[in-house]
Amino acid sequence: MIPRHSSGTIERMRPVGAFVAGVLTQVSQAAKPGVNLVELDALAHDLIRQAGATSCYIDYHPSFGGSPFGKVICTSVNDAALHGLPHDYALQAGDLLSLDFAVSLEGWVADSAVSMIVGGEGQPEDQRLIDTCERALAAGIAAAVPGNRLGDISAAIGAVSRAAGFSVNTDFGGHGVGRTMHEDPSIPNDGTPGTGPVLKPGMVFAIEPWLMHGTDEIYTAEDGWTLMSADGSRSAHVEHTVAITKNGPLVLTERS
Ligand code: MG
Repeated sequence: MIPRHSSGTIERMRPVGAFVAGVLTQVSQAAKPGVNLVELDALAHDLIRQAGATSCYIDYHPSFGGSPFGKVICTSVNDAALHGLPHDYALQAGDLLSLDFAVSLEGWVADSAVSMIVGGEGQPEDQRLIDTCERALAAGIAAAVPGNRLGDISAAIGAVSRAAGFSVNTDFGGHGVGRTMHEDPSIPNDGTPGTGPVLKPGMVFAIEPWLMHGTDEIYTAEDGWTLMSADGSRSAHVEHTVAITKNGPLVLTERS
């Protein structure tokens, strides 16, 4: 059963969406060469405290996690694809950094991710990977309209990804979001158009394509959390929290 929210409730989700967007903007601006991943986590933690928000990550301990996450932001560098546990590492120019961040504020959750090249200039192939993820996200969001089916979102993401020459891992993808970080449905990053539940106004989804250069397989690092690309190739990951409304998709985590 996919939860649906009134338009009034979706209005009440705007503050958490704006907060998540603002934190990702501030943390990505701070992610300069020489800055340590634990400093980025501390910055995000300070911003959470100032806002009176609650981290969705710090106590998160699902079956696939080795222990409670213990940090408030995911920092996935280079061949770390998803769930990067912040650790003692100073960023270098040209690193491909993905930040993934979710909090609860006033009872509602938003979840968003951004990928960037540290120091601005990196390998053209890495920029292409990021650009492809962003185009896949835009295509997925464009499909998030009433009357479409869930498979249309998945198919739109997969089509952009595959057309750019990347294979798609469907083990981890998007999800419903509302009172908690992970709600029904799960939204694989590839699928068949015209299949699955019909999309209706009031559904709120985290849509999150991620891609690796050379593989669609991952393994878990020794920290018990960070998911690494199987072949050591680099990865990118972008995400927005999107409400389906009768006027079309409303991106709650849009960065200004
Ligand atoms: Mg996320």
